Amino acid sequence: MTGFAEQSRLQTLDQYELSEMPRDPALDDISRLAAQICNTPVAAITFVEKDRISLRSRYGIDINEVPRHTLPCEIALAGDGVYQVPDAQHDYAPGGISVGDRCYRFYAGAPIVMPSGAAIGCLCVFDNVPRALSPAQIESLESLSRTVVTRLELTARARQMDHASRARRGVERALTVERNFVSAVLDTVGALVVVFDTAGRIVRFNRACETLSGYTSADIVGKYAWERLVPTEDIAEHIATFHRMRSGSFPTSYEHFWLGACGSRRRIAWTATALQDARGQMGFIIATGIDITVQVRAEEQLRALVRQSNSVLESVGDGIYGLDLESRITVINPAAAQMLGYRPEEMLGRNMHELVHHTRADGTPYLPADCPIQRSLVRRETIRVSNEVFWRKDGSSFPVEYVARPQIEADIEFGDAALLRRGLASTAQLARGLPLALSVASAAAPDAPRDTEGHTVGVVVAFADISERNALDRMKDEFISTVSHELRTPLTSLRAALGLVAGGALTERPERISQMLNIAIGNADRLVQLVNDILELESIGSDKAELHSAMSSVGDLFRRAAALMQAFASKFNVEFVIEAECVNVWADPERVLQTLTNLISNAIKFSAPTGADGSQIHLTARYSAAGEALIEVRDQGCGIPEDKLEIIFDRFKQVDASDSRAMGGTGLGLAICRSIVAQHGGTIWATSKLGEGSTFHFTLPTHPSNNLR
Ligand code: ADP
Repeated sequence: MTGFAEQSRLQTLDQYELSEMPRDPALDDISRLAAQICNTPVAAITFVEKDRISLRSRYGIDINEVPRHTLPCEIALAGDGVYQVPDAQHDYAPGGISVGDRCYRFYAGAPIVMPSGAAIGCLCVFDNVPRALSPAQIESLESLSRTVVTRLELTARARQMDHASRARRGVERALTVERNFVSAVLDTVGALVVVFDTAGRIVRFNRACETLSGYTSADIVGKYAWERLVPTEDIAEHIATFHRMRSGSFPTSYEHFWLGACGSRRRIAWTATALQDARGQMGFIIATGIDITVQVRAEEQLRALVRQSNSVLESVGDGIYGLDLESRITVINPAAAQMLGYRPEEMLGRNMHELVHHTRADGTPYLPADCPIQRSLVRRETIRVSNEVFWRKDGSSFPVEYVARPQIEADIEFGDAALLRRGLASTAQLARGLPLALSVASAAAPDAPRDTEGHTVGVVVAFADISERNALDRMKDEFISTVSHELRTPLTSLRAALGLVAGGALTERPERISQMLNIAIGNADRLVQLVNDILELESIGSDKAELHSAMSSVGDLFRRAAALMQAFASKFNVEFVIEAECVNVWADPERVLQTLTNLISNAIKFSAPTGADGSQIHLTARYSAAGEALIEVRDQGCGIPEDKLEIIFDRFKQVDASDSRAMGGTGLGLAICRSIVAQHGGTIWATSKLGEGSTFHFTLPTHPSNNLR
């Protein structure tokens, strides 16, 4: 047998898996048929394998295999037709053909030739006696050997089909496992997952979707999203979004509303992506979403709160600023920046202590370590301070009162439900492109016990410029002491005069009684005058006295004032010179008259009588600047020292304290004049030369629109 034939036979045996084939009853039938046709006691189908000759089917013997080269089958394989050994003792081996423990004299074998041309074994018959097959028997044996080939072919094909169907079942099982896995994942995740086909129909609606919408997967799958889930007013936009995605342009993130089965409206943030099919074309669109309804509401509330806080910060008069742990300014309101002489943006990020709190009121350096604001940060307590100064950009300072309150931010532990909520919110925020830095800082309540929870993130300082309050306090103290002094003096005289009369000590001297009563009347008048002046001043100062401005002729007002003061002037031998024929002012005539009579009364009082010729008081008026008239009252009296020219306009201020006694003044006349002129928007001042006289000047507007203020 050639090496090629051997190799080809072994390959064919392998290909048909004949070495391991189980016993086939059909082949046994063929063996039996061969024995019957050939009239032999034994028949077998042999396969000549590498190390043995196996008897896969047999009739009349019960043996599975024999060693190679023990049967004539290997000779039969090489031939074309049936090979016969008529008498084995002569033609094959002296002992005949031994198969197991039996020896046979006759052998005939028809090769089994597979379609590939390889002869793999024989259908053979054995007999105990020498003999030969008839031609019909030979033909039948050949025919039966072809039937064996057909059977082997069929068996192999059936086996292949069995393998293929088993493989298909395996794939199906694997696919089922995969599908179940994907379903389990989709149903376990908290996110909403919807899968659309390219027509827009929903093919997958996971459990989170069911829970949120109140619809079951069966209600929704196969339908378009806009059939049930999208509110009517949003359908057009929803379809447009879908079409954009289908054409390949992915708004990977978008938001819209879902309408639940029970009518609830939820806002969802979606992220969509395309799934390609086996041909690389868009097969499905998968959209994952997060319900952000609560978060959006919270954000809207937060925005409203921020707007509200901003408008509060912008509208309050107090300065408010926030510092981080390094004392850098993180936020500052317009009032604070304005008080300090900066623009807010100039201050942000700068060290507040170095900028405005570097020096104490007495000029000594203020070390950051000593600063109460720093202390507030370190000790986490609210601090109030009222005796310090802040420094402006221009180098000037002003007294301040401030409250520093630390900002404590709550600690969040890992695993906290709040953290989880924030995490989810953050994911949704990311999807929506919103800023994540939403501060949860909370300020400790004022005067609250020290909070040991959370960590300090900064400090908020609210301050007020208290210069005006300090000045008012000073004025109030001064006013009270002056008023009490001014009231007490006439009251004491009044009490003394009345005491003398009532005591009866003067009954013998009636002229002294009337003198005492005159003193009492004079002091009572002075008290009335004082109280009237105080009330007058208070009413002008508080803007209670409304101005009734009208176009008024200053000349007329001069003449009215002169007429009113004429008797008083005559007493002092003083005469008036009026020089203001054509000047008109836009003013309240009664108030201007009051100012003029005050000034004229002073001019008369302080004009020393000058013999027979007397003294003159000049009343002049002229237009001094556009829209402004200058009015002057000039006397030829004693004059006012230069250093007193300004302070005589303050309340109860006189050049000489004895003036009030000698001249009967209260020290409030000029303060009233200044208030009236200021109310009109004008200014008043005095010039003087000692021994020669004084001039009081004041300006008034000439037109309503020219209010000088
Ligand atoms: P009084 O009621 O004391 O006059 P005023 O406020 O009107 O109060 O004046 C304050 C002080 O100013 C006077 O007491 C006086 O010392 C000084 N004074 C005011 N007018 C004149 C003037 N024309 N000549 C000199 N001194 C004047």
